[in-house]
Amino acid sequence: MGQRRLSNAQGDDQNKRPQGPPRPKSTNTVLNSTTTRKGEVFRAQRRTSENVNARASQHMVNVPVNKSIYNGYGGRQFSLAEQPKRARTPRPTLKIMPVGGLGEMGIGKNMMAIEYDNDIIVIDCGFLFPGSDYPGINYITPDITYLEENKHKIRGQVFTHGHLDHIGAYRHMAHRIPAPVYASKFTLGMVQRTMEEATSGYEPQYNELNPDLHERVQLGDSFSIELVRVNHSIPDATALSVRHSASWLIPVTGVLKTIQSTARNLTSNA
Ligand SMILES: [Zn+2]
Repeated sequence: MGQRRLSNAQGDDQNKRPQGPPRPKSTNTVLNSTTTRKGEVFRAQRRTSENVNARASQHMVNVPVNKSIYNGYGGRQFSLAEQPKRARTPRPTLKIMPVGGLGEMGIGKNMMAIEYDNDIIVIDCGFLFPGSDYPGINYITPDITYLEENKHKIRGQVFTHGHLDHIGAYRHMAHRIPAPVYASKFTLGMVQRTMEEATSGYEPQYNELNPDLHERVQLGDSFSIELVRVNHSIPDATALSVRHSASWLIPVTGVLKTIQSTARNLTSNA
């Protein structure tokens, strides 16, 4: 559908002309004496604003409008597409990864990894006792594929307490993600006990952290950790306080149950 054209030029419809004596257009005598048509004025205004917008947006994307023959492009307007591509340098980001246990069926296979830059710390490594819908399966372990692929970054394996849903899978996983182990005294004993049944022959380095003395250990460049005593149905249960060199703090709770710690009658200081 093109624009409809009249075959013959026709005069204005006199009925649509304003009746009565013509009003002065403006008090400005210069404007009143001009013969420029209104539509032409609007088109000129639009052209001007489009031009201004084009120039402004060009400068916003850092490509100046320059069609001089000396602009380095033979007088052709150049665009961002012709700018050399510079690779972005990726900035390290903090990743908190529930490897297992969080939001999954049942209770168990608790495992979490915290990654920043070139450092990963792994927290817990438990298994899950499956229900009757998994006949013949003794227990389920977390999927540690990502950690295996990045095992060169792992600076420490921390355990919050000695229940099997937090340490049970470790004897099957330890040799695949080797790292020094950090835990409170009783928890460490429980881990060492389960590691006696490991078939891999891998023996990690065990490090005891005393939560009462607020012992803190630096893991890699990014993290330092401290165990924080909590109440749970097993002695020496702890939560974890992870500090980053850039000043932020991640509290990691292992478990929180209001059962007084039985062995030494110590209460939570968390
Ligand atoms: Zn527990």
